[in-house]
Amino acid sequence: MSRNGEWQTSQSRDFRRLSVPHNGYREGVPGVEVGNIVVLQRQAWRVLEIREKPEDLWPANFEQAWQGVVSRWIAHEASRAAGELTAWGAPLTAQPEPVRSEWLYRPVNVVLQLVDKPKSKPRHVVTGPCFEWQTLPEHFTVCRLCNELPPCRHTETEATVNRAMADAERLMAIPRGACLGCGEAITSRMKAIRFPGPNLWRPDWGTDSAVFHARRSREECSNAVWKYERQWKEQGLHVLNPELPDGEQTSPDEGDQMT
Ligand SMILES: [Zn+2]
Ligand SMILES: [Zn+2]
Repeated sequence: MSRNGEWQTSQSRDFRRLSVPHNGYREGVPGVEVGNIVVLQRQAWRVLEIREKPEDLWPANFEQAWQGVVSRWIAHEASRAAGELTAWGAPLTAQPEPVRSEWLYRPVNVVLQLVDKPKSKPRHVVTGPCFEWQTLPEHFTVCRLCNELPPCRHTETEATVNRAMADAERLMAIPRGACLGCGEAITSRMKAIRFPGPNLWRPDWGTDSAVFHARRSREECSNAVWKYERQWKEQGLHVLNPELPDGEQTSPDEGDQMT
């Protein structure tokens, strides 16, 4: 779900760049055309128009970024002419002069309209040709209950709640004093990590009772330590209990020896 950092619908693996010249794709690779359906902010939009911004009308932030590209190139070429070397002693290689009209981040104006609301006000988005749009076929699916693209917000919340409940059930089944990660006993010969302060996962065990195996080899234990430590710090408990050195006790060699 991390492409462009945006939410994605689970029903399409089709990503395309705008169909404009110099979008970084080889010739013949299909791009987003006027009339296509794209996903933006969980909604399906019809592309009404794709138009490059005239070079003298670039928005200030695009212009500034472009000037940065040019000055970095000038600086590089100046260093190269002066005979400067790379950190490992090789001569600098020549870089081609950046071309404004071919820059992958140049502003392109895209006009979108909600697919199911052909009367709605079109939305203008300015983006670079290298942005990858998730596209949908004409027959795409929406949730019957809320009309959102899957996974809809309700499904996502439900999944989170189910996970949290399964987690609570698992924690409640762990016998007192056992590892809150894997749920198994911690013998006197095993290294363990104990978190001072209230027990965030099993408050009924009392203070200073949150304990985990200090073994990196078992993901169940080490992931739980990582998760617990994060929550522990979020609650500011590491400030109240400075005696637990940051991270140090997450190492199997430096964990408290249980006796
Ligand atoms: Zn829904
Ligand atoms: Zn464990």
